[in-house]
Amino acid sequence: MSSKKKTGNVASPALSGTAYPLIDHSFDVVVIGAGGAGLRAVLGTAEAGLTTACISKVFPTRSHTVAAQGGISAALGNMGDDDWRWHMYDTVKGSDWLGDQDAIEYLCRNAPEAVYELEHFGVPFSRTKEGKIYQRPFGGMTKHYGKGIAQRTCAAADRTGHAILHTLYGQALRNKAKFFIEYFALDLIMDSEGICRGLMALNMEDGTIHRFRAQKTILATGGYGRTYFSCTSAHICTGDGNAMTLRTGLPLQDMEFVQFHPTGIYGAGCLITEGARGEGGYLTNAEGERFMERYAPSAKDLASRDVVSRSMTMEIRDGRGLGKEKDHLHLHLSHLDPDILVERLPGISESARIFSGVDVTREPIPVLPTVHYNMGGIPANFRGEVLSGKNSDPDAIVPGLMAIGEAACVSVHGANRLGSNSLVDLVVFGKAAAIQCIETLKAGAKQPELTPDAGQSALSRLDRLRYADGDTPTAVLRLNMQKIMQSNCAVFRTGDVLREGQELIHEIWRAGQNIKVTDRSLIWNTDLIETLEYDNLIAQAVATMESAYNRKESRGAHAREDYPERNDENWMKHTLVRVNSVTYATEIDYRPVHTHTMSKDVDYIQPRARVY
Ligand SMILES: Cc1cc2nc3c(=O)[nH]c(=O)nc-3n(C[C@H](O)[C@H](O)[C@H](O)COP(=O)(O)OP(=O)(O)OC[C@H]3O[C@@H](n4cnc5c(N)ncnc54)[C@H](O)[C@@H]3O)c2cc1C
Repeated sequence: MSSKKKTGNVASPALSGTAYPLIDHSFDVVVIGAGGAGLRAVLGTAEAGLTTACISKVFPTRSHTVAAQGGISAALGNMGDDDWRWHMYDTVKGSDWLGDQDAIEYLCRNAPEAVYELEHFGVPFSRTKEGKIYQRPFGGMTKHYGKGIAQRTCAAADRTGHAILHTLYGQALRNKAKFFIEYFALDLIMDSEGICRGLMALNMEDGTIHRFRAQKTILATGGYGRTYFSCTSAHICTGDGNAMTLRTGLPLQDMEFVQFHPTGIYGAGCLITEGARGEGGYLTNAEGERFMERYAPSAKDLASRDVVSRSMTMEIRDGRGLGKEKDHLHLHLSHLDPDILVERLPGISESARIFSGVDVTREPIPVLPTVHYNMGGIPANFRGEVLSGKNSDPDAIVPGLMAIGEAACVSVHGANRLGSNSLVDLVVFGKAAAIQCIETLKAGAKQPELTPDAGQSALSRLDRLRYADGDTPTAVLRLNMQKIMQSNCAVFRTGDVLREGQELIHEIWRAGQNIKVTDRSLIWNTDLIETLEYDNLIAQAVATMESAYNRKESRGAHAREDYPERNDENWMKHTLVRVNSVTYATEIDYRPVHTHTMSKDVDYIQPRARVY
């Protein structure tokens, strides 16, 4: 049952300058995030009898996973032959050889089982005539190691994320997971030995402060698309878990790799799923030309996202964009059978009508590449354990702390994620994290007492932002940050533009000292919550810009015009970035890419040129 009752004891002394009475809770596992990743982990641990709390700043079914349209990849072979090894090959190639192949093997090998589990949990997948799960083509998904288009993306019309999220939430409730809804997680509690002991959270409904103690804390807080001005992600995508990780002194990984989706609706940013091109949609320029035939002669409109986004950007730069400003292109669906549009793409037909006034059965949709997904995040292994980023031991973990979903960087997507590979990442690694908890924890095991000051730093930060009385409203700083990211860290990058971006983003970062919060209340205070979120976003914007400036090659979504080639000799490595919001110091380091697979019978896929 979902809970808004105070379940803990109001026992702890008040911490920080302000007297905040604390409500203490203790669970075996606490998951922050109720998107697809969080709910899959919650379901797994709760089902196994571990006491499990799930904390979410929004109602679970409003988590961003609800917006996922096109589908979830798995080599089921329902629509022609398929093999998880071909899926693995495509994912490695899509990642531009930055992905860790042991983790990619785990993902693709376990994908079919994960999808069948979803089917048994009750996800209403679209069906073939024979009653099997319907699968559509998606960018970069091929058969026979690149020799033909695969139909691998399992779809529930164009509302796959919606179907998965609702189903998982129902299953988590059925297994008696305890939900703390509209609680805003503030910070992790780390002990003096660097072990994670839980977290601090604010109940936004009544302003109470909660201290959660757990054997394992799992971050499933999603991506940070809102560092950019135009993105397909919801307002809640502020990467709070990533920023909490940075505040503990741990690094984030591969933050320079930000995916632009080719088909955001021009002007609105909302997504038109790649499934639209999977069903036969195509792009044209101002001359009516199907320009993707020039850039990707085999895969054409179904080349990988970074390739299509770059091709579109080049068309616009070369003056072949549409409209008064020649700044967008067209996506055509009107040639498709209207029944297919109604049956398989109802959501995007509606989005096109609402956000661009277009009837897709008659007119093309104006589109533009738009920020969509973060390949980077909290470094984690395939079990969901967070990596500490030590040079001496690159695979060392942080005890007590795990990360999954878009917040994590496992790294299966490397430099570029293939469409429909995120939803499968959520459920495969959400389940893997649950298995890791089940194998290593004893239900109800006694946990060490927290020290009296546990959680103090979270409350000091809350105080600092709550009483901030400078000159600049949060909204102004946020807009400036978003504009800088959009113009200085976009589809194409150069050293000069990134260096300017570095200076500008550091200026905005420091301007945070002068931030103004007008409302001091802890109850339903959007100004305060948006300030906490902005404080999280700006740290990630800095991390992204620094990482991008320092990577002097082009790979996947990171396209440097001054270093146009991929450079495996010097750059086949993961970036680790630390950002200190107290001293304003940043630190860049690197970790080797895993050049091995998980099983002896699976060969490492050697790097080669990436053409579609
Ligand atoms: C429009 C769109 C369409 C997409 N379509 C597809 C698709 O078809 N296929 C595919 O594979 N991928 C798709 N993606 C990508 C995919 O949807 C996301 O990567 C994925 O859903 C992220 O899931 P998640 O569980 O990691 O996080 P989310 O679903 O974003 O959930 C994050 C959770 O964390 C909670 N949270 C965050 N911060 C806090 C805090 N401070 N305190 C408490 N709770 C917090 C939130 O409340 C939420 O419950 C799409 C993305 C977009 C933007």
